[in-house]
Amino acid sequence: MLRIDDLVVRYGAAVALDGVSLHLDAGEMVALVGPNGAGKSTLLNAVSGLVPAASGSVTCEGRIAQVPEGRQMFPDMTVEDNLVLGGWSIRNRDLSEVLDLLPDLVRLRKAKAGRLSGGQQQMVAIGRALMAKPDLLAIDELSLGLAPLVVAELAEHLRFLNRDRGTAILLVEQEVSLAFDLCPRTCVLEAGRVVAAGPSAELAESEAVRRAYFGDL
Ligand code: ATP
Repeated sequence: MLRIDDLVVRYGAAVALDGVSLHLDAGEMVALVGPNGAGKSTLLNAVSGLVPAASGSVTCEGRIAQVPEGRQMFPDMTVEDNLVLGGWSIRNRDLSEVLDLLPDLVRLRKAKAGRLSGGQQQMVAIGRALMAKPDLLAIDELSLGLAPLVVAELAEHLRFLNRDRGTAILLVEQEVSLAFDLCPRTCVLEAGRVVAAGPSAELAESEAVRRAYFGDL
């Protein structure tokens, strides 16, 4: 459903993505990992159309919604209003459907988003993206700054969304063990290039990946 071919993205003279190819089938969950500055956010932003390609192509057969890095709430607005903003252009998925998927948000509906915990805000950010009824959910840094228990709960919601609704997920994640655990397939980016890609279980066994991400010898 998503095909990225030989994608090059530049910021001025700097090359952020240097010929990246990646595909996602409908309903697949794929993780994108790599060190800071590898180009992971740039790749999501190129998929969402937020940054232009210098060359190469991105084609997507369905609708994409992005959960941006740092959540990007409107802090003085209520949770409900933040959610409704995510659906401003598409009205066929109503709020109640998103609240069914993320029932913890029901009691928080009238709370100001800025007063929520990081985990609750991440849930609102996911809910806001789901309001667009996406076929592909692109998530930038699910676990950033969140406690492990909170991350586990969010991961469970994503698993359910994928399994029950068939929503494809492209997950940018610093926490490589979480990425491997959640996504059957992983792509490793370094300095704007794909340096490894394949089944997460195989990558987890790879010596180079273990050395880079788990500190193993
Ligand atoms: P992080 O995990 O730190 O968010 P990342 O893998 O998501 O890193 P990107 O944010 O995509 O990496 O950045 C890729 C490269 O592009 C980096 O060298 C970064 O400094 C540069 N870059 C990102 N955004 C811009 C921008 N708006 N203008 C100029 N350079 C940028």
